[in-house]
Order: sequence, then C-alpha cells, then structure tokens
Amino acid sequence: MGRPLTIIPGLRQSVMFDVAVALYRRHGVERRPRVCKACGQAAPCPVRLHAELVIATAGADPQQFEDAPPPGHTGFRVGGRSRPIDDDALTYERHDD
Ligand SMILES: [Zn+2]
Repeated sequence: MGRPLTIIPGLRQSVMFDVAVALYRRHGVERRPRVCKACGQAAPCPVRLHAELVIATAGADPQQFEDAPPPGHTGFRVGGRSRPIDDDALTYERHDD
C-alpha cells in the first residue's frame, strides 16, 4: 500500500483487535490448493489481509496467531534418515519427535 505503518497504542486491548485475530485465524491458508479455508478465495484472501493489517497496526506479529500444527508433527525430512530412498522418490518420511 506504500504507506508506512503507524502503530496505534491501545489497539491491542480493543474488541477490534480480538475480532481481527478471530478473522485472521478463521481465514487461514489451505496449502493445496492455496485457497482460504473459510471463503475459498485465492489465499491470502481480502479478509485475512485486512485482519493482518489491524493486527500489525496494534504492534503485534500476525504470525503468532497462526493455528498450531498438529502436536508432535514438526515437518517432513527430505530423504529420510538411514532409510533407503524409495524408487519413485516421491514419498517423504514423516518426522515426529
Ligand atoms: Zn477468506
């Protein structure tokens, strides 16, 4: 948008901030296809972008309000560890600690 972000003191304690966080989380990003989980538009959708702006204007990091990944799941290890690579090279070993 080109305009520098101005932090608004007290916004974080407002109802508007709570609503923005709720909207931001509800309109999360589906990975494949990359669309909004709530409205199905291309992600990030306009609702999420506006909510993100409100959160940032309150001086908070929108990333901290992302839904947590499933417990114990930390991602996929490419190539696996001490395991023969599949012939098709298309499967990933899940890495759960
Ligand atoms: Zn949406």
